[in-house]
Amino acid sequence: MRKPTDLCLLCNTNLASQTNSHIFPRFMGVTMLTSSNNKREGYTTTTDFIDKLKSGNKIKPEQDTPKEDFILCPSCENNFEKLETHFANKHYKVIDKPSLLNNKTDEVLINKMPVIVNKKMDYIIYKKLIYSMLYRASITSLPQFTNIHLPENNKNSIRQIILNEIEFIDYPTYSIIPARDTEYTKNCIYANSELDNKAHLLCVNDYIFIIDFGSQSYLLKNIARFKNHKEQYAKFGLLSDKVWDDWRKTFLGV
Ligand SMILES: [Zn+2]
Repeated sequence: MRKPTDLCLLCNTNLASQTNSHIFPRFMGVTMLTSSNNKREGYTTTTDFIDKLKSGNKIKPEQDTPKEDFILCPSCENNFEKLETHFANKHYKVIDKPSLLNNKTDEVLINKMPVIVNKKMDYIIYKKLIYSMLYRASITSLPQFTNIHLPENNKNSIRQIILNEIEFIDYPTYSIIPARDTEYTKNCIYANSELDNKAHLLCVNDYIFIIDFGSQSYLLKNIARFKNHKEQYAKFGLLSDKVWDDWRKTFLGV
């Protein structure tokens, strides 16, 4: 159990007195907590959740996305909040899927997988937010994140980038969203390290982020069009409902 007198797991300098640090930005998970009749139902997001979903057992509702006390200091929490606010204002709140989908039939969505480019978002802030999510997933002791195994050198690198201790390094990332609004309560929060712990998958409701520290693997070649690496703007790959559902089944088996 972490204590408020422990050191912050990002800066290693201040006391980790911050409570309720969300591992992934809270706003990204909000819709999956509320059912279509507007009742706040929510779902647990542990592996227990997946087992229960598979067995058809009732799931105990959660009222918030995963959060932990005493892992960060208030200053580092504030640092993360700034990254989150930028993403919320420049992407989450303003993305207009219907206009993006003009002339994009379901067939196109399945076969060509369109990519949208967000020119409003600062590319480095966007990347740092993705790094910060992986970093938080790597330091938390919450059971939802036990499958994240981030090698120390990569962890230290993104830590120093977030703290502006070293110059920004652009690791390849992939951001994927469903083209249409999904059945949110079927979505989940899930994180896993793949490919000898070189690639890390973060699923947050209707966002999937992948960070790749390795060389191009054959698995990631399938989604090469979605790769964001050494570019000017943030990119998002769009998946059709069918492909989104297939992916969810692949990752979760449900
Ligand atoms: Zn700190």
